[in-house]
Amino acid sequence: MSDECIFCKIISGQLPSRKVFEDERVFAFHDLHPGAPTHVLIVPKRHLRGLAEAGAADEALLGYLQLVAARLARELGLERGYRTVINAGPDAGQSVFHLHLHLLGGRALAWPPG
Ligand code: AMP
Repeated sequence: MSDECIFCKIISGQLPSRKVFEDERVFAFHDLHPGAPTHVLIVPKRHLRGLAEAGAADEALLGYLQLVAARLARELGLERGYRTVINAGPDAGQSVFHLHLHLLGGRALAWPPG
């Protein structure tokens, strides 16, 4: 856990969130500023700054984030489709430096993203 990290504080319950799912590895909650009718963030409980900082030891965790996203998409009724996104670094618009996977759906999503 990082003392300054807002996602660590959400995971520990020090900050509120609208939780969607939790297990021993990940915590998922609705984004505060949704970019689509459904916008969930799937966050590893272990603090990891971002995708660029992930290593071989994180291989299973990265796959697990995607599988949790697919399961939540089914549970949240996104049968028409959805997108998973990891923003990595400033040019991608990463604003919270604790690795997270965005799950977006509930409307037609434009491609390519801006
Ligand atoms: P990124 O820009 O990829 O780093 O995504 C960070 C996301 O976290 C943004 O979509 C924010 O809206 C979201 N966010 C920031 N603070 C909170 C919070 N306290 N609760 C829920 N979502 C948040």
